[in-house]
Amino acid sequence: MIIDLRSDTVTKPTPDMKQAIMKAEVGDDVYKEDPTVNELEQRVAKMFGMDTALYFPTGSMANQAAIKLHTQPGEQLICDKYAHVYNYEGGGVSFNSGVSCKLVDGHRGMITAQQVVDHINPPDFYHSPLTTLVCLENTTNKGGGACYTIDTFKEIKVVTDKHQLGLHLDGARLWNALVATGQDPKEYGQIFDTISVCLSKGLGAPMGTVLIGNSSIMKNAIRVRKILGGGMRQVGYMAAAGLYALDHHFPLLKEDHKRALELAKTLSELSVVTKVEPVETNIVIFNVSDENSFTNYLDNHNIIYSDMGQGKLRFVTHYDYTNEMHEQMLGVLRKF
Ligand SMILES: *Cc1c(COP(=O)(O)O)cnc(C)c1O
Repeated sequence: MIIDLRSDTVTKPTPDMKQAIMKAEVGDDVYKEDPTVNELEQRVAKMFGMDTALYFPTGSMANQAAIKLHTQPGEQLICDKYAHVYNYEGGGVSFNSGVSCKLVDGHRGMITAQQVVDHINPPDFYHSPLTTLVCLENTTNKGGGACYTIDTFKEIKVVTDKHQLGLHLDGARLWNALVATGQDPKEYGQIFDTISVCLSKGLGAPMGTVLIGNSSIMKNAIRVRKILGGGMRQVGYMAAAGLYALDHHFPLLKEDHKRALELAKTLSELSVVTKVEPVETNIVIFNVSDENSFTNYLDNHNIIYSDMGQGKLRFVTHYDYTNEMHEQMLGVLRKF
């Protein structure tokens, strides 16, 4: 048995999800004639109390499109040093939008309103790039699945309103945050200008991210998606998987969170583990003193993990990580 804890993207569609895919009604989505895509977009927009949504093949493309909608070449966005848009989207911020990133030394991937204020370039000082956008991430990926409070978002919103900056949320794992905190998605809709939410992380669809926002900012989104090569045709088959995942997999995320917490507890009892980041959702980031012996041990037990560098390792729980695997995993860890 292989236990794959690299990421929550490794899940495969269940038989029931495949049934939903098979039964989907489809059309040409470039003409906006795919009823299943339209249904998914409307449903997600409504959940967050926003009026417009657009289905993208990937989270990276949705974030990149959002950044393009908010900025002009030469401008600068503010994000945490761990941000996915900065670290893991292939340099797309500069490639697609001609924009630079001002990095904030935040806490577990999260930044404060005061840090946003401190990183805004004075708009009349023409020597430095014009700050026009703030990108936040929830949950934070490299920050170990940490969740922001709504209060912090509201404080940041006061700053972005005052300085007329756009506010985008990379919500690849926003579903995990909603389950972990009980926050109301409609509050997010009132705070952010644009939000991307992935269906292919914890929710387990094979692909798809929805970008939501209000019509004023989303007006050009379909053009930008086309430019990025993201206009798809009968993609309702995949949107059907997303709708199925919202109905059936969204509530299951709390099981992933419970198992992640149990992994963290067991890890913290091992002498080789020097630090375990607090676990709030489905990501466990920890440091080990003797990386070679520990990772060889995991390799020999068919356990796959992510190596984050500098002795930092990561486990991510997901719905293909079964109870049986979990019991085996805890046993293997305890025997190290
Ligand atoms: C996975 C992820 C994305 C999007 O990734 P894709 O692989 O392009 O779908 C964006 N932001 C965060 C924080 C992520 O974890």
